[in-house]
Order: sequence, then structure tokens, then C-alpha cells
Amino acid sequence: YNYHGTYFLTSAPNIRSLPIDSGIEIAFAGLSNVGKSSALNTLINQKKLVRISKIPGNTKLINIFEVEPGIRLVDLPGYGYAVLPEKIKIQLQNTMLEYLQKRTSLKGLVVIMDIRYPMKYLDQQIVQLAVEFNLPVLVLLTKADKLSTCACKLQLTKVRETALVFVNNIQVEMFSSLTKQGIDKLRKKLNA
Ligand code: GDP
Repeated sequence: YNYHGTYFLTSAPNIRSLPIDSGIEIAFAGLSNVGKSSALNTLINQKKLVRISKIPGNTKLINIFEVEPGIRLVDLPGYGYAVLPEKIKIQLQNTMLEYLQKRTSLKGLVVIMDIRYPMKYLDQQIVQLAVEFNLPVLVLLTKADKLSTCACKLQLTKVRETALVFVNNIQVEMFSSLTKQGIDKLRKKLNA
């Protein structure tokens, strides 16, 4: 795809408010603050598009960007906010579950993680769900610029090992929005 014309299409508070379920969607998920917005901005080569469309204080929305007619990138709500009330957390989880399970146009999930930390429980859960629903998953370990090459490789191996405990085969790659490391691999994967 050519991401240069990507624009903000809409925000949806729930599954029913999403655009018509046709075409192709690639969803991005991750814990809050891992660098998901930055990774999306890097992918589409626009400095602020994803951040701008974030409504302050409202992190529970699904944000949708159109790359080309019928091709969409979906920014799922960052999970793991400690401050959210339990009721909202459960609502969010159900929305994610429903989206992953029922969305026909959804063709792939990219899970963004901070390369400095081990794979968290919520990351494991979402990866496991996606695999159960036969959805191709790519795990991107972002902020790779924050560690030495050697430390990055070690983290990559650790995350792969963690994932292999509950899924047979999963692609895990390094990424950095700062240096654009890994951008070619990400684009190639999304084009496949
Ligand atoms: P989100 O909450 O997951 O959307 O995270 P953001 O994209 O807003 O990033 C959270 C913080 O991490 C911000 O201060 C970013 O500048 C920083 N950040 C994101 N990606 C990178 C990266 O690849 N390298 C470095 N060094 N910092 C990053």
C-alpha cells in the first residue's frame, strides 16, 4: 500500500459504530504508552495523525484510518490502564473480544510491545485470542533504539520463547519509531 494518503476516518465507541464490515482491516493493539500511536504514525509517514485524533481523556475509542478505499488501519484502545474503573475495563475487553471474533474484514493483528519489558499477561491474552480466531499476528517490539543491539536480540529471543509456550508459531520483530528500524519488515508483512 501507499500510506501517504492515509486519513482519519472515524472513531467508534463500540463494534456497532464501526464502518461497514467490508474491505481489509489491520488492527493495532498494545498496552497504553508502549508506543502504538508513534508506530502507526511511522507506518503512515505522518508525524501526528494518530495522536491528533486522540480525544483527550477518551482512550476508549477505536480509531479508524483509511489508507486507500477499503483498506483501513484500526487503532484499538490501549489496554491495561490501571486507573480505569473495573466496569469500563470489562467493557473494553468485551469490545476487543467481539471485534477480534466477529469482524470479517479484519485480516491481521499487530501487537505493539515495549522492547524493554517482558511480554505482559494482557499481551499474551490478545495474541492467544487472535491465534484462536485464525488471525495472523505480528508482535512488534518497539523503542528498539533504547537498548543496545545485543540487549534487543536477547529481548526478542525471550518474547519469542514466552509466546511459543501458548502459540505454535508467531512472528516477533524489532521496531523503532525514532530510527524507523523494522519499518520495511512491517510494510512487507502488511502487504502480504
Ligand atoms: P501509545 O500510548 O502506545 O500510543 O504511545 P505513544 O506512541 O504515545 O508513545 C509513548 C511515549 O513513548 C512517547 O513519549 C513517545 O515519544 C515514546 N516513544 C514511542 N515510540 C518510541 C520509539 O520507537 N523510540 C523512543 N525512544 N521513544 C518512543
